[in-house]
Amino acid sequence: MSGTDLLELSGLVAGYGRIEALHGVSLTVRAGEVVCLIGRNGAGKSTLLKTVAGLIRPTGGRVLLRGEDISGRPMPWRTRAGVALVPEGRRVFAPISVHDNLLLGGYGRARKAIAAGLDDIYARFPRLAERRGQPAGTLSGGEQQMLAIGRALMAAPSVILLDEPSLGLAPRIVGEVGDIIAGLAGAEAGVLLVEQDAAVAFRLADRGYLLDRGHIITSGPAATLRNDARVRSAYLGAI
Ligand code: ATP
Repeated sequence: MSGTDLLELSGLVAGYGRIEALHGVSLTVRAGEVVCLIGRNGAGKSTLLKTVAGLIRPTGGRVLLRGEDISGRPMPWRTRAGVALVPEGRRVFAPISVHDNLLLGGYGRARKAIAAGLDDIYARFPRLAERRGQPAGTLSGGEQQMLAIGRALMAAPSVILLDEPSLGLAPRIVGEVGDIIAGLAGAEAGVLLVEQDAAVAFRLADRGYLLDRGHIITSGPAATLRNDARVRSAYLGAI
């Protein structure tokens, strides 16, 4: 591990009962980086994020957070330790307000930290501030994605796992959400981004990994990866 690795996966094996979806995956995310994980449908991208978040327990290999093995830790522990998952499909709590959705994301934190978190998120996402009293289910798709990200940020995460944030969004909104994602990586935070839209992934990411049927088959700087023949073949010229 280099001194600045936030997240390190080493030989990770995971799946669903007898179905093994990840067959020994290794990757790293450093502070300040957006790292993309790309691959075809069913490659194992969501499984990888869920295993890092603690929703799936690996059957082999290790998940290290700042060098500490957290493979056996449950999801709530990982959330407190700084691992946040923004799941696919923008799962906001539709009937309750934007504000209450954000409060849920800060559950368990000190009152002052929650207040500071809310201020920060409303400053970052003025549209959520304007709609703070509105039921989350009445927001547009892009606004719900912002809320899902904002809710994750309420836990002050250092590893932010994003599963298909651009899925189903209009192109103009994809750009807006992309700008937000680019701003999430910082001195103490890194992003692992799963994106079906490779053009979006390569625009946002510093580095990337190509996952194919549970194996990482190539990795490198985004600019190199986008010209890799294996990446181009996986995306059938859509880059
Ligand atoms: P997509 O881009 O379509 O979301 P993905 O790369 O995220 O795909 P995963 O959802 O991680 O892929 O799926 C990896 C493999 O695990 C697939 O073969 C899939 O059928 C299988 N799988 C996913 N979820 C389950 C589940 N709940 N039970 C059994 N098998 C599953």
